[in-house]
Amino acid sequence: MKTLEQVAASLQGYDPQALRADTAQQFLQTLVTPVEQSELVELKAALGRVLAHDVVSPIDVPAHDNSAMDGFAFNGALLQPGQPLVLDIAGTALAGAAWSGTITSTQCLKIMTGAVMPAGLDTVVPQELVQTDGQRITIPAGALHQGDNRRFKGEDLAKDKPALMAGARIGPAALGLLASLNLAQVSVQRKLQVAFFSTGDEILSLGESPREGAVYDSNRYTLFGLLTRMGVEVLDMGVVRDDPAALEAAFGAAASQADAIITSGGVSVGEADHTKAVMKSMAGGPSGVAFWKIAMRPGRPMAVGRIGNAMLFGLPGNPVAVMVTFLAFVRPALLQMMGCAVQGTPMLKAHSMDPIRKKPGRTEYQRAVVQTSSDGKLQVRITGQQGSGVLSSMVAANGLLVLPHDQGNVAIGQEVDVLMFDGVI
Ligand code: AMP
Ligand code: MG
Repeated sequence: MKTLEQVAASLQGYDPQALRADTAQQFLQTLVTPVEQSELVELKAALGRVLAHDVVSPIDVPAHDNSAMDGFAFNGALLQPGQPLVLDIAGTALAGAAWSGTITSTQCLKIMTGAVMPAGLDTVVPQELVQTDGQRITIPAGALHQGDNRRFKGEDLAKDKPALMAGARIGPAALGLLASLNLAQVSVQRKLQVAFFSTGDEILSLGESPREGAVYDSNRYTLFGLLTRMGVEVLDMGVVRDDPAALEAAFGAAASQADAIITSGGVSVGEADHTKAVMKSMAGGPSGVAFWKIAMRPGRPMAVGRIGNAMLFGLPGNPVAVMVTFLAFVRPALLQMMGCAVQGTPMLKAHSMDPIRKKPGRTEYQRAVVQTSSDGKLQVRITGQQGSGVLSSMVAANGLLVLPHDQGNVAIGQEVDVLMFDGVI
C-alpha cells in the first residue's frame, strides 16, 4: 500500500492546507483498496452485500420459449395483411406442464402465460382480442404481428453468459435474479469492520449527569446509523478521554480489529487536545497521516491516514460536519473498500426556491428538502439554520444541496445538484 506522501506526490497541486473537496475525493480513491477475502452465504443473507465473483448463468432463463399472455398460440406465418384468421382449437397448454400433441396448420392452441410454446408455433393472440365459440377462434385483421407475445428462451439470462458482475451491491432485484438461476448460495466480499469513537473531554455518554460546558455525544449515533445502513460491521468504542494513554489504547485496539477507524473531534487547527499528536505517532509519523483543511462548508478539518492496516478517518467534531464529511469522503472510500464497483450516488437536479449566497472557491453542502411542484418539476428549499452544529436542520432535510467549488451565487429558480439521503443513509 502507498503512503500518503507517495499518493500525494502523484497528484498535481496537492496542498493539504487548502484542498478542494473534489481533489480530496480523488485522492481517497487512490488510497484505499478492496478487502480480499470473500465468503459463501445463503442467498437471503446476501442482501446488501457485494458480489465477490462474476456470476455466470448456469441455465437459460426462461428455460423455454413461452407465452407472455393468456391466449391462443399459432403459427404467425398464417397471418395475411388485411385478413381475419380463423383457427380450430386443438387443446390447452398450461404453465408448468408441456403440451404434447400435434397441430395442423389450421389449428391453434389455447395457452396460459408462462406455458411452453409448442414447436412450430411462434405467436400468441391475447384471448381478449379474439372471437370464439369454444371450438374455433377468429383473429381480427391487423390485430397483431408474427412473433407477438412470445418470450424467447434465455431472453432474460442466457446460459454461460455473465448474469451479474463482481462488485455489484446485491439489492432486491439481484436477489431475485440469483434465485431465478437456482443459486441458493452466493460468494460475497467479507464484511468490512469499522471501529469508531468520539474524542473530547466535553463529550458525555448517554446516562452521564450533565455538567457545564459538556455536550452529549451525538456523533457516535449518527455514525452508527450511517455505517449500519451501509451494511458494515460496526465496533462502537465509546467516548475516549483526551489523554494520550487512553487515545493510544483506543487506536491500538481499533487498528488490531478493524479495516477502518472513524473518530470525531480533535482534528481542527489549534486544537489543544492530544488527538492529533497520538494519530501522528500511531500512524508512524507525518507520512502516515495528513491533516487536511478542505475548502468546503461544513467540514473543513479532516485527518486521513493509516494506523497499522486500518484506514483512519479523523472527522471534525461538529455533528453536521461529521455527517457531511462522512457522506462526501468516508462513504465512497468505504464502498471502495467493500469492493463495490459503484461508489458514487446519483444526484438529482432541482430548481432552487431560495436565492443562495455562495463564494466561488469552496464546496458547500446545504441541508435541503426536495419536493415536486404542482407543475411536476423538482424544487429544493434550504432547511433553516445551516450552522455546522445544528442537527435539527439535518433531520428536517431529505438531501444535501451541493454547490461545487467554482459555483457563485444561486438565483431563485436556478438548477442545482442535490444528493438525496433516501437509499443512502
Ligand atoms: P472539535 O472538532 O473537537 O473542535 O469539536 C467541534 C465542536 O463539536 C465542539 O463544539 C464539540 O463540543 C462538538 N463535538 C465534538 N464531538 C462531539 C460529539 N461526539 N457529539 C456532539 N458534539 C461534539
Ligand atoms: Mg475538541
